[in-house]
Amino acid sequence: MSKVCFISGSSRGIGLAIAEYLAKEGHTVILNSRKPIEDEVLSRFDEMAEPVGQVIGDISDFDEAQRMMQEILDEYGRLDVLVNNAGITRDGLAMRMKEEDFDAVIETNLKGPFNLIRHAIKAMVKQRTGTIINISSVSGLMGNPGQLNYSAAKAGLIGMTKSLAREVGSRGITVNAIAPGFIESDMTDALADKYHDQIKKQIPAGRFGKPEEIAQTVQFLIENRYITGQTIQVDGGLGM
Ligand code: NAP
Repeated sequence: MSKVCFISGSSRGIGLAIAEYLAKEGHTVILNSRKPIEDEVLSRFDEMAEPVGQVIGDISDFDEAQRMMQEILDEYGRLDVLVNNAGITRDGLAMRMKEEDFDAVIETNLKGPFNLIRHAIKAMVKQRTGTIINISSVSGLMGNPGQLNYSAAKAGLIGMTKSLAREVGSRGITVNAIAPGFIESDMTDALADKYHDQIKKQIPAGRFGKPEEIAQTVQFLIENRYITGQTIQVDGGLGM
């Protein structure tokens, strides 16, 4: 059945792959980023059954998150699926990490999902159905040198997932996290080539994942109504 789906941070990368996959499945998708979505990106949705929407704004800002959720409810009358995907990195070793880099990552990667959940959950409770999917990371499970801020936010997101799953389970709402490993994206393109080969040696599958492999998992979690509070690792076996 067609759902109204909001995917934070869907102007590129994994978020855009999720949006395209869900649109192909026949869902209504609403894109988001801090800047208006480029025409080239919007044109990818031309052939889809449902028109694509966009709400632009910064998820780390509590009031903007409220405004964005309200825009969706005003226009579509409901929100079935919230994918908390937007995320940033500001890597650095602990002894050198700037306070603003710690704060920025927590504000976007941990408080951002809270801001959207806080303003979406009432509507889902009223509907007595909903799906919340938080994109965490294998770094939140295993830790990663140079990513103290990012790992803390992504681990926190797993705790948030479990608490919320317990709060709203009886209302027909499932809440799960996906923990991707290394996925082909701008984030991993930024790694020097020499690290690519080193990392691949540690991944049992021997390769980076594709954004579509995360998107596929999102669709699975939309369909399955009896999985909640879980963190699904999509990492080629890296974090087992
Ligand atoms: P990406 O290519 O850098 O895309 C990030 C998206 O988030 C963009 O659309 C960006 O748009 C948006 N965004 C960033 N800050 C935002 C904010 N404050 N408000 C609204 N939108 C914001 O990232 P990605 O590699 O696809 O990663 C997507 C998610 O997967 C992230 O949560 C990341 O931590 C997680 N993840 C990625 C990997 C990987 O290998 N790539 C692995 C594990 C987990 P604007 O900059 O225009 O706002």
